[in-house]
Amino acid sequence: MIDLRSDTVTRPSKAMRQAMADAAVGDDVYGDDPSVNQLEQEAAAMSGKEASLFLPTGTQANLVALLTHCQRGDEYIVGQRAHNYMFEAGGAAVLGSIQPQPIDIAPDGTLPLETVASVIKPDDFHFAQARLLCLENTHNGKALPLDYLHQAWAFTRKKKLALHVDGARIFNAAVAMNVPLTTLTQYCDTLTICLSKGLGAPVGSLLCGSAEYIKRARRWRKMVGGGMRQAGILAQGALYALHHNVERLREDHDNASWLAQRLEDMGVEVIGSGAQTNMLFVRIPANEANQLGPWMKQRGVLINAGPVTRIVTHLDVSKEDLQRVAELWGEFKRLMAVPGSGSGQASRAIYEG
Ligand SMILES: *Cc1c(COP(=O)(O)O)cnc(C)c1O
Repeated sequence: MIDLRSDTVTRPSKAMRQAMADAAVGDDVYGDDPSVNQLEQEAAAMSGKEASLFLPTGTQANLVALLTHCQRGDEYIVGQRAHNYMFEAGGAAVLGSIQPQPIDIAPDGTLPLETVASVIKPDDFHFAQARLLCLENTHNGKALPLDYLHQAWAFTRKKKLALHVDGARIFNAAVAMNVPLTTLTQYCDTLTICLSKGLGAPVGSLLCGSAEYIKRARRWRKMVGGGMRQAGILAQGALYALHHNVERLREDHDNASWLAQRLEDMGVEVIGSGAQTNMLFVRIPANEANQLGPWMKQRGVLINAGPVTRIVTHLDVSKEDLQRVAELWGEFKRLMAVPGSGSGQASRAIYEG
């Protein structure tokens, strides 16, 4: 199967599995796991922060980040469609009594700072107090502009807010912008990084920040059940990912651009200005939207098809795979161009074809 649904579907390579099998381990809750300790030290150095913490998922990493930044009744300002507002089951509100203040995300993935300023409430007992601004980098595959990161940093210093970056795919941003990670992370207090997406590790995320902050985060991680024992097996997968799979993200970006161009050439509507890092979004006509997914699946391609379809490239999808996808897509378009192919007889014929 060629799986374009997400970069979370990547599987550990043979070499990564070998590194995991050979992992030196200990009990990480005692601080005894050498592989986890190495990972946390290396991640701190890579991100230019004093310390880091290894957690099982990005969702837990963001939750622990919020619990560590905010007290009960505080507010965090966050994008309306940001992962840590929209897609984490409301964890910060449910488990932390932290109130979200969502605002619309601009087309370039940023939260306009005038809007952020306008939702910060006065210091009055009627209002929850904003403590934290959360950005997402990349957002929908878009790397946030460096000058914006700089402005957001200066803005939060002035407003006495902390700045957290959900950097699930921040390495994609760094590689796309051709800068070291620290160029991006110098403009935040804390960040989370997913190892289990395009970096190809099976499990794991990191939270990076000051030593004092990570010390407090460690307690929250324990409280939400994220204290793992011989986690070195997972940490070695993560270290392998950091050592071998960062620079190669460039291939995924090139592949996404290549596919965007091919689809555009055959009349598929690619949204925005083509592929952004490892993602592209295409608009599928109403009569095709519910047929594309099953049709592709029958031919060995998994796509989360809908009126707006996100296509994600990653280390388990090769250029040849994408050539095959482009050919199939062309075939699908030709079939759909047959009059009446949007429903009934003709569409059944397509499924059988
Ligand atoms: C995937 C993702 C996460 C966390 O995902 P998990 O599946 O919990 O590891 C957080 N933020 C963003 C932007 C993501 O894409």
